[in-house]
Amino acid sequence: MLFTTPTWSSLADRSLAGEILTRDEALSVLEAKDEVLLDQIAAAHRVRRHYWGNRVRLHYLLNAQSGMCPEDCHYCSQSKISTAEIEKYPLMAQSKILDAAKRASELKAGTFCMVISGRSPNEATFGKVLEAVREVKANYDLKVCACLGLLSAEQTHRLAEAGVDRVNHNLNTSETNHANIATTHTYTDRVETVKNVHAAGITTCSGGILGMGESNDDVIDLALSLRELGVTSVPLNFLMPIPGTKFADVKRLTPQQCLRILCLFRLLLPSQEIRIAGGREVHLRSLQPLGLYVANSIFVGDYLTTPGQSATQDWDIISDMGFVLEAADGSAISQ
Ligand code: SF4
Repeated sequence: MLFTTPTWSSLADRSLAGEILTRDEALSVLEAKDEVLLDQIAAAHRVRRHYWGNRVRLHYLLNAQSGMCPEDCHYCSQSKISTAEIEKYPLMAQSKILDAAKRASELKAGTFCMVISGRSPNEATFGKVLEAVREVKANYDLKVCACLGLLSAEQTHRLAEAGVDRVNHNLNTSETNHANIATTHTYTDRVETVKNVHAAGITTCSGGILGMGESNDDVIDLALSLRELGVTSVPLNFLMPIPGTKFADVKRLTPQQCLRILCLFRLLLPSQEIRIAGGREVHLRSLQPLGLYVANSIFVGDYLTTPGQSATQDWDIISDMGFVLEAADGSAISQ
C-alpha cells in the first residue's frame, strides 16, 4: 500500500485520541523537511497544551558522586574508559547535598535530582543516599528523584520507604542499538530496573540520549518502549560529545532534527512529562523556546559534568513565552 504523508494536525488528533502512530507515520515526522517544522511544532504543541497547559517544570541536577565508574557507556565522561578531565569524588557529605537542595529551591525547581555514578550503589553508599533523601524531604518542599544505576526490587522498595518520589533510569537507546553504546550491562538490565521502580510504586523517569549515531528506527523504538513500559517522565538528552569519551567525534544533530525528535516523542508519549535534558543549550541554541512548545520540562542549573546556561535566562524564556513554572505541589509559581 502506498504511504501518503499525513497532515501533522491529523497526527495530533490521533495522539490525543490515544492512538499510536504507525511506523511510517513516525518516520515521516523524523524525515520531514525543515520547511514544515513549524507545522509539526504547532501540532505537537496542541498535544502538549492539552495535557500541560502553559506549565513548565524545572528540575535541578546534583552529581552527588562523580567518576570512577566501572561501566563502559561510550557517551559518558565518568566511565572507566573515558579520559575526559572531570572532577572525581565519592558520595558527597550530607551537608553538601542539603546545600544543593537549598540551591534547587532558590532556583524555583520542583524536583531535586540526585545522581551518583556507578553500575549500582553498594550498601554503604545506598544507606547514605536514603539518609540524604529523608533529610531533603524533611527540610525542603521538593520532589526527590534518585538516579543510582541498576537497582534491585529490594532497593527500590527501600527508596520508596525513604520517601523518594521518582527514580530515573534511562533506557538510553533502542534494544537493537544498545550494544553499540555500552557492553558492560544489557538493555534488559535497564528495563528490569525501570520495572522494579514501577513495582515499588515510585514514579518512573526514563528517557534517552539522542545523537549517538542511532537510526530513525532506533529513535522510534526507544519512544515505543518507553510508552510500553508506562513511564511517567521522559528526559531527552542530546549527546554532548565530550573529548576523551568514545563518542567525542560523533556527528551532531541539527537543531531542527532535535525539534523533530521532540515532536515525535510528544506524539507518541502525549501525556508524559517530556524534559529537554542535557545538550539543550548546545543543540537547540537560539531555538530553545521552540523546544518548550513541545516539551514541558527542563533542567535548571548545570548538568552532570557540563555547565548549563543561567537560571535567569531560563526563567526569561519561560515568561517571555507566556508559560508559568510549576511548583512541587503542582501549583503555579508567580515569577
Ligand atoms: S552512564 Fe552511569 S553507569 Fe554509565 S559510565 Fe556513566 S556513570 Fe557509569
